[in-house]
Parts: sequence; structure tokens; C-alpha cells
Amino acid sequence: MSTLFIDGRWTSASAGATREVVNPYDQSVIRTVDEGDSADANAAIRAARVAFDDSQWGEWTARRRSRLLHRIAELLQRDRAEIARLETLDTGKTLVESGIDVDDVTAVFEYYAAQAESDPGRLVDAGNPAVRSRVVYEPVGVCALIAPWNYPLLQMSWKVAPALAAGNTMVLKPSEITPLTTIKLVELLEEAGTPPGVVNLVLGPGDPVGSTLVESPQVDLVSFTGGLETGRSIMSAAAGTVKRVALELGGKNPNIVFADADFESAIDYALIAVFFHAGQVCSAGTRLVVENSLHERFVAELVKRAERIKLGNGLDSDTESGPLVSAEHRAKVERYVQIGIEEGAWLLAGGRRPEEPALSQGFFYLPTVFDECRSDMRVVQEETFGPIMTVERFSSVEEAVRIGNDTTYGLAGAVWTSDTRKAEYVARKLRHGTVWINDFGPYLPQAEWGGFKRSGVGRELGHAGLAEYQEAKHIYENTAPEPQRWFAR
Ligand code: NAD
Repeated sequence: MSTLFIDGRWTSASAGATREVVNPYDQSVIRTVDEGDSADANAAIRAARVAFDDSQWGEWTARRRSRLLHRIAELLQRDRAEIARLETLDTGKTLVESGIDVDDVTAVFEYYAAQAESDPGRLVDAGNPAVRSRVVYEPVGVCALIAPWNYPLLQMSWKVAPALAAGNTMVLKPSEITPLTTIKLVELLEEAGTPPGVVNLVLGPGDPVGSTLVESPQVDLVSFTGGLETGRSIMSAAAGTVKRVALELGGKNPNIVFADADFESAIDYALIAVFFHAGQVCSAGTRLVVENSLHERFVAELVKRAERIKLGNGLDSDTESGPLVSAEHRAKVERYVQIGIEEGAWLLAGGRRPEEPALSQGFFYLPTVFDECRSDMRVVQEETFGPIMTVERFSSVEEAVRIGNDTTYGLAGAVWTSDTRKAEYVARKLRHGTVWINDFGPYLPQAEWGGFKRSGVGRELGHAGLAEYQEAKHIYENTAPEPQRWFAR
């Protein structure tokens, strides 16, 4: 089956190129997909443009769009097991994690189904009874939705659901290395009755497929999730046509543990924070910031448990963590471990590939713990996006906050303490888009997600996540116009 979807038809790449999608667990080929180029990207943009400007889609009521989103949510649950399996094959994450992703995505479609209907605009008091003034919300137009490989289905769905709810048309560009669940999502969108041209799918590399979308004058908005450097280049490329840009970039997220925290929970979550999905999570709590008096006991226990984490095939039920996504990515993680060692961090666990022959074909890397780190180290400041924990210490609340904010990123952070006033103080002082108190990782469809500082521009989820895909229009109606004679005195 062809795997590009343009104007309601599954099609091959115009130049006939293909790509093998590889399982990071054993490097076996899962599927061969079509590999598009700029010609395909332009064809998809044209289809989305026509669907926005000239088709019936613009006449759909909010209620009808809402029903479409509900239907997509139903189909996601119907095919939950198949989708989860695909995501595990493609990314290496465990089947349990992939199932959670499908459930989260379903909840996001349900949430925006409800939002679509409950957003009729608002009346504005013009201070004049003869004036009817209102603000209405309209779709932005053609949206380019560009997603990364770590949460392929989830990150794409956080964009597709609100973009559809608001009535836009779109071109989807998943990561070239993990396109499988996005292909499946588009099949479900088609089955649910999304009209031709409203959703288009082009597979292929960032350059030329993504860059063609970003530079096109026919595209009104780019929503991008991915790395800082790519985000920077997208922002400047989009300036040429002054299109709207939403960026969800990386993070270097502090997990601050006070000595009065519940020890067992704090330890458990500190491991989850950094080693979940092998650390390939934008909000991973890779920076453990622990109070001096707790440091020795906490780190000793962490190391013991990190060394016991069972790596393996994400499809096996006893696997606790899968491989990294690719050979290139593992090489990047290995470089950062080397940098950490050269900077003087103390390597307490991991720092190498596992030796089990059963894992030798996969891109595995052992959970790694660096102690005695300082904020100015590169391994602490830069996003390693792998299973690398760095440990820093503090001795006062102010110092904890200072370390937690000592990053150019600002995506997420956590504070662990049994003192609620201290927790609230730290939560308010941290310059991050999400702060967890005595928890790590959860997000809600109804709560905004996004970054302060270099973690991004704009928000996904919540009401702001819908507003990204809307233009506000003020309609001012004078119901009793009279000549003003301004120029006829
Ligand atoms: P990446 O920046 O390499 O690629 C992301 C997407 O952009 C891919 O689809 C890629 O093909 C495309 N792309 C690359 N160059 C492009 C260009 N010039 N123009 C247009 N598109 C281009 O990121 P990645 O390695 O796939 O993902 C990992 C990164 O994503 C990490 O930095 C992580 O922190 C970030 N991330 C952020 C969030 C968040 O919510 N803030 C969530 C998940 C991942």
C-alpha cells in the first residue's frame, strides 16, 4: 500500500523513492514506506489549500467537527492493541507505554471534540446600544504539523486534534524514522469521514519535506515539536512569509528532592523521571537536584535500582526499558557520557552499552548516573535525550531554586517535599511550563503544555492549544448608522 496521503488518495512518492523503517530493538525492517520530496510536499500543500479555500469543509458546523473527533477517538480505542504494537516496533518503547500513549491521544481527541462545540466566540460591550460587537474564532488556514520520533503518535495528535477542531486543513510530516502510527492515524481519519484534502500526509526528511512546508507561502501556520536547533531554523525560515509558528522544543528538567520528601516515592519517581523510555522524553527529569543531607543515601539507592533496570524487547512483558531509537542517537548519548567524564562528573552507574548477547543487535545503552555535577557542565546544560542522570546538591531552598532555573530551557520540573508551603514556594519560583509537586510526568489534555525560555513558543493542550489554531476576528456592527459629517463641516 502507498503511504503518502494527498487529496484523499493514498499515493507513492512522485520520484518513486522509498525508505526502510527499522526496529531499534534488532534492526529488522518493519515496513518499507514511500519517501516524499518537495514535489510531494507541494502537492499536499495545494490539496490542503483547495480544501480550505474552496471545499465544503468550511461549511461544517462545529458540532459536525466535534462528532468527527469523537469518532476518531472511538476508532483509536477500537485499534488500540494494533497501534500500540506498531509504536513499540517503531520506537522500541514498551508495549505498556505505547498503550498509555494511545489512551492519552484518545483523551485529547475527546477533549477537543468537546472544546470545538463550546467555543462560540464572545460578545463585546461597545458602550453604545446601537452597536453589536462580537469576537469570533476562525481557523488559521493550512497548517504544517511536524513531529519528532520519541512520541510519534502522541505529538502528532496533540496538533491534529485541535487543528481539526478549529476547522483548519493540514499537512502532516512525522519523523522520517518513525512514521508508522501516523500512517495508521491518517487511515483512521479517513475512515472517520474526514473530507479529502483536509488532512494530507507526506513522509520524508526534514529537508526537503519539512523545509518546503515551512517556506511555502501557501502555508499559514507551522506547529513543530522537535529539537532546539531545528526549531531555531524553522523560526527563521518561517519569517520569510511571516507565518504563525508554534514550537515545542527540548528541556533540561530539574527534579528537586528535599530531605523531608517521602523517600520511597521520591526514589521511585526519580528513576521514572529519567529512565522512562530510555530518557528520550522532552520533559525527562535528567537533572536530579538533591538536598545535601539526603544526598548520600538517596544516590546510593538510586544507583542500586538503576543497575537493576531490565532492558529488552518492548514487546516482552518483563522489559522495563527499551533501546534508543537509532544508531545515530546512541552515538550522541555516548558522546555526552564522554563529555561528562571529561568535565569531571563521577560516573556511578552505566556509562556503556549492555553486554548481553541478546541485546547486541539493538541500540541499547545502560541507565547512567553521574554524581558531583555542577550547573556549568555541558552534560548538565545540554539535552542528552538519553538515559543519563546528573546529580547536583543544594543546601537551601534558594539554592535549589537557583539550580532549578539555571538552564536556558524551561519545559518542566518537579519538587519533592512534605512541606506544602515550601513546595508551593518552589513551584511558583521555577521558570518552567509545568511543575509537579510530589510527582513526575503527568499531563492533562485540559491543562496547557509548553515551554518557558528556549523550550518553545506557544502552548499545546488546554484552551491555549486550540487558540494556536484560531484567528480571532472582531465583527463590529453598527445597527443604526447615521452620517457623521466629519468632512462636511
Ligand atoms: P528533530 O528536530 O531532529 O526533528 C523533528 C522533526 O522536524 C522531524 O520530523 C524532522 O524530520 C523535522 N525537521 C528536521 N529538519 C527540519 C527542517 N529544516 N524544516 C522542517 N522540519 C524539519 O527532533 P527529533 O530528534 O525528531 O526529536 C527529539 C527532540 O524533540 C528533542 O529535542 C525533544 O526534546 C523534542 N521534543 C519536545 C517535546 C515538547 O513537548 N516540548 C516533545 C517531544 C520531543
